[in-house]
Amino acid sequence: MPSDALLSVRDLSVDFDGVPALSGLSFDVRPGEVLALVGESGAGKSVTARALLGMCPRGAAVSGSVLLRGTPVTAADRGRRIALVPQDALSALSPVLPVDGQLALAVRSVQGLSRRDALARAREALAEVGIPAARVSAYPHELSGGMRQRAVIAMATVNRPELVVADEPTTALDPGTRDKVLGVLGDRCAAAGASLVLVTHDLGAVGAHADRMVVLYAGRPAEYGPVDRILRRPLAPYTEALLACLPTAGTPRKSRLPTLPGRPPAPGALGAGCAFAPRCRYATVRCHTERPAARSVDGREVACHLDHLESV
Ligand code: SF4
Ligand code: MG
Repeated sequence: MPSDALLSVRDLSVDFDGVPALSGLSFDVRPGEVLALVGESGAGKSVTARALLGMCPRGAAVSGSVLLRGTPVTAADRGRRIALVPQDALSALSPVLPVDGQLALAVRSVQGLSRRDALARAREALAEVGIPAARVSAYPHELSGGMRQRAVIAMATVNRPELVVADEPTTALDPGTRDKVLGVLGDRCAAAGASLVLVTHDLGAVGAHADRMVVLYAGRPAEYGPVDRILRRPLAPYTEALLACLPTAGTPRKSRLPTLPGRPPAPGALGAGCAFAPRCRYATVRCHTERPAARSVDGREVACHLDHLESV
């Protein structure tokens, strides 16, 4: 493990009843960085997010390693060293407590403050994510979706974790609110000194908020490296196809990844070759029979057989 990694993921695979949902994923997250996990629906993003927190459902067979500063993530780390911002804020909040009250409980459980100090710290944290003072004692159902997601961001960062994992944190929000909430998430992680794993299908958000990215296709990594390099010149044919479908500057950003011709393979329906071969315009005979290993090319890792990558 490079000494500069906060989180080190090696050969992570997750199977459900022998059907692979994720296979052979390796990446590092450095202190303070934002790493985006990108892919279409079903690419294995949420499975990865859960696996990072050690929260895979019963029945999932997990192999490989996930190390936070060199040690496996345990249940005791969750909410302390590593925190989740889920897509659905309501699932992360108690419906029966006002948000300042539940945030205060989270603060007390980790920081051991007095009831009064914990409540004061909770309200301060809610102010820091942009919830007006008049709304801090509201119940979750009384808040708008954007305000609720801000409250969850406060909850995830108030105890200064080392890593925040956000699983499509703005998908449920309207487009006008998304960028603001992502900005708040980035700001609060930076203020807490936390790294961020941002799971998203929105390449615009990746360009605006992430330092490095992993592109997943059908549960397998296709390309991994610095965002600026990959967005400027994608090397994996799948990344290239995704970017080619993006609206050009000046047109409104689409919320969903644009659709490529064809569909990703169903889990369990992967052949021996490259998962992208049925949709890839460059596919050769070899692509249909041999899974490409990741190679280091031009400052990133690319899993593709293409010969010309050698000369990039
Ligand atoms: Fe396309 Fe072959 Fe590369 Fe897969 S290995 S992305 S099918 S060229
Ligand atoms: Mg998902």
